[in-house]
Amino acid sequence: MADQAFVTLATHDGYARGAMVLGKSLRNHHTSRKLVALIGPQVSDTCQSVLKRIFDEVKVVDVLDSGDATHLDMMKRPDLGVTFTKLHCWTLTQFSKCVFMDADTLVLSNVDELFEREELSAAPDPGWPDCFNSGVFVFRPSLETHGKLLQHCTEHGSFDGGDQGVLNGFFSDWATADISKHLPFIYNLSSIAIYTYLPAFKQFGGNAKVVHFLGKTKPWSYTFDPKSKRITGEAHEAASQPTFLLDWWTLYSSAVVPMLQEQHGDQPFQSGCVEYCDTVPIESEEIPEASCSSPAQVETPLSSEQRKQKWEQGQADYMGTDSFDNIKSKLDTFLK
Ligand code: UDP
Ligand code: MN
Repeated sequence: MADQAFVTLATHDGYARGAMVLGKSLRNHHTSRKLVALIGPQVSDTCQSVLKRIFDEVKVVDVLDSGDATHLDMMKRPDLGVTFTKLHCWTLTQFSKCVFMDADTLVLSNVDELFEREELSAAPDPGWPDCFNSGVFVFRPSLETHGKLLQHCTEHGSFDGGDQGVLNGFFSDWATADISKHLPFIYNLSSIAIYTYLPAFKQFGGNAKVVHFLGKTKPWSYTFDPKSKRITGEAHEAASQPTFLLDWWTLYSSAVVPMLQEQHGDQPFQSGCVEYCDTVPIESEEIPEASCSSPAQVETPLSSEQRKQKWEQGQADYMGTDSFDNIKSKLDTFLK
C-alpha cells in the first residue's frame, strides 16, 4: 500500500486547517494508505509543521492560477482560479494510484476501498450531474497525463474557470463511458444536498462516508465555542449543514487546535492560522429583530407547509423553530 496515497491541497492557512482536519479524519478511520499534502509557499511555518505531523509528505508547489475572471464571476467564486494548482497532483509519480480529496472534505468512515477504482473515478456534481465533482477523485499520477492536462488548459481553458471545468473537459467521457467510474454520492456528499433534496438525505444520509463542505463558506469561516458546542457564522448556511459542521469543529478543536498551540509555542499566532473564539452564542447579527418578534409569528404558530414556504423564501425563523439546535436534532434523528 506504500505506493498509494490520499492527496489534498492547501494554498494558504485557511485551507491548511481544512487539510489538517481531513488528514486527522483519515487517520482516525485507520487508513492504510499514505497521506500527502500539496501546499502553496504562503502556508505559514506553524501550519506547515502541523501538516508535517499529520501527513507523511508535505510538498510545496507553485500556485497556478487560471486568471479566468469571467467564468469565475459567473459562479461568484473569484477565489477558485488557484484550484488549477490541483493539477500538480498528477506529478506525484512515486505513487501508482491516488485519491485526491479537497481540503474542505471530511471522512466519516474508512474509504480505502476507493483505491479499487480506476482513473478517473468521481461522484456526480450536485449542480450538474453529467459532470463529476472534482472534490474527490481517483487518479493515476503520470507526467504524461500532467503534460496533456496543462496543454488542454492552454488550448481550451476551463469552462468554469476552475479545475472542475478542466478535468471534466479532459475526462469528457466520464458521464457515459464506464459506470464503475461513477463513485456513489456517499463518497462526496455535498452539504448543499441536505436542503436541495431532504427526503434523499433522510433516506441515505446515514450512509455518508465523505462530506464535502462545497461552496463559499467553509467550516473554518465559522467560529465555535467548544464548551457549549455552538457554532456562529452566516446562520442560514450553518443551519443547512449542522451535523457535519459540528463533526468538523469537534475534530478541529479536539485534535488540531492543541497541535497548533503546541507548535506555536510562546509566539503570537500567525494571522489566519488559528482563530478560536470561546464565547460565541448562536444569536446572529444578520437576523433583523423584527423577523423574530412579529406578533403574527408569536401568536399564531405556522403550519409545517407555511414554515416550509418561509424557509424556501429565505425567511427562516433562526431564533425560534428553525434554530441551529432544532435543525441539528431533527437531522440527527434522520441519521440515526
Ligand atoms: N484550494 C486552495 N486554495 C484556494 C482555493 C482552493 O488550496 O484558495 C484547494 C482546496 O484543496 C480546496 C480545493 O482547492 O478544497 C477546491 O476549492 P473549494 O473547495 O473552495 O471549491 P468548492 O468545493 O467549494 O467548489
Ligand atoms: Mn471543495
